[in-house]
Amino acid sequence: MIQIRLKPKREKPLLQRHPWVFSGAVDSVEGVPEPGETVDVCSSAGEWLARGAYSPHSQIRIRIWTWEESEAIDESFIAPRIQRALLSRERLAGVPEVTAYREVFAESDGVPGLVVDRYGDLRVVQLLTAGAERWRRQILDVLAKAGECRGLYERSDSDARALEGLAESVGPLWGELPQGPVEIKENGLRFLVDPVAGQKTGFYLDQRENRTRVRAIARGGELLDCFSYTGGFTVAALRGGVERALALESSVAALEMARANLALNGLADDRLEGIAGDAFVELRRLRDRGRQFDVIVVDPPRFAPTSSQVQRAARGYKDINLLAFKLLRPGGLLFTFSCSGGVGPDLFQKIVADAALDAGVKANIIEWLGQPADHPVALSFPEGRYLKGLVIRVEG
Ligand code: SAH
Repeated sequence: MIQIRLKPKREKPLLQRHPWVFSGAVDSVEGVPEPGETVDVCSSAGEWLARGAYSPHSQIRIRIWTWEESEAIDESFIAPRIQRALLSRERLAGVPEVTAYREVFAESDGVPGLVVDRYGDLRVVQLLTAGAERWRRQILDVLAKAGECRGLYERSDSDARALEGLAESVGPLWGELPQGPVEIKENGLRFLVDPVAGQKTGFYLDQRENRTRVRAIARGGELLDCFSYTGGFTVAALRGGVERALALESSVAALEMARANLALNGLADDRLEGIAGDAFVELRRLRDRGRQFDVIVVDPPRFAPTSSQVQRAARGYKDINLLAFKLLRPGGLLFTFSCSGGVGPDLFQKIVADAALDAGVKANIIEWLGQPADHPVALSFPEGRYLKGLVIRVEG
């Protein structure tokens, strides 16, 4: 097996079972490993540390499969890991109100690069790294055989693939595939999900419990659902007792599906106003027109995929939250989120605090929100925590 030697004093993260080796920590590579090939990682003194998948094009040069020298990375190593991940989601699967959830969450489940989302009896899979791609056949084999699933569809079209030097890979893989969108249930709400044409694998599953919080807390008045996608928060808020909603979203197709989702939940169409456009522009227009809302949800896309884009991302969050504060009625509620891994919870809170100050409002945080149980965070991999949210009440 090819050996990678680390630079002096760069072994600490591996000793703490962090699963990444950055290119800057690598001192020497013995030979030329292929993308995804399994390599041994040693300290500068030659001590064996871990075994992982080599990725020649990524800044994350090696993703660790094992810290046990005796564990072989062969035909059969991946199946038990996937099965363990599936088993750990059984509590969710056993709940009739939830038919869509993340079954495998990459590093957190010991399978870097593999994401599997479940929509009823359909599995949607993303192979995002050279290592996951290398074990494609074995991974898909387990997923096709694992219980109660009738179809497997691939959506490996994330930007992450490009960073790994991999081309997009999208399409049916196995079994029966539904024609058009599938219907899922989320804590008593019904949603249409399009795994083929939708964003990511079709639905933002990570916001499930936060939608439930909006439904529980928001009462009466008007909602602004900024970055609404297919109306997850809109439907939750309307069912929770909000009277009318304005959904702001750049994708026309997503707004159309939001309307279909209203109908699916028995909500009258005239309770939703949709604006297709750029939130940074449209929020200013709403402000200039003097519009006011009782509840605002701000759930933007990832502004900072990596820590190098943090400055720019911080400006984006500040701008959008400042506008949101200006659009809130006294006593109103803001649910504001960041899914940028590069912006930690403390920084996010500080940005939102600055926005409130500039908007001239006094406000309290009444809840901190995060990601649900099917998006766990391994203690040795804090980067797995990416979604954070604040529930803020502006003084009345
Ligand atoms: N809240 C949604 C998920 C939002 S994901 C839910 O619960 O399902 C972020 C959304 O923002 C995507 O739907 C994307 O199309 C949209 N988006 C991205 N950039 C935008 C922009 N500048 N203005 C408005 N919408 C934008």
